[in-house]
Amino acid sequence: MTCFYCKGNIESSTTTYMTDYQGCYIIIKNVPCEKCSQCGEEYLNGETLERIEEIIQKVKGILIAKGVIPIELRTITDCCRSRRVTC
Ligand SMILES: [Zn+2]
Repeated sequence: MTCFYCKGNIESSTTTYMTDYQGCYIIIKNVPCEKCSQCGEEYLNGETLERIEEIIQKVKGILIAKGVIPIELRTITDCCRSRRVTC
């Protein structure tokens, strides 16, 4: 397999996957990927992307459950009231 962009050699590697959600960064380290030795372009396969999606969904659930991220339906006023602070 060669790189889609520069036709360089593709090697097995790992990468750090980072995404942000409602101001919270979700970072997944040591994600297996294929990386171009020439331009550094990274390729993730479908299975890996599915695993990442699973992890992100779980993390989002935790963030909401812990109150880090208010539930979408909750209004700003309700949010302040529940935290006993005034707006
Ligand atoms: Zn390349």
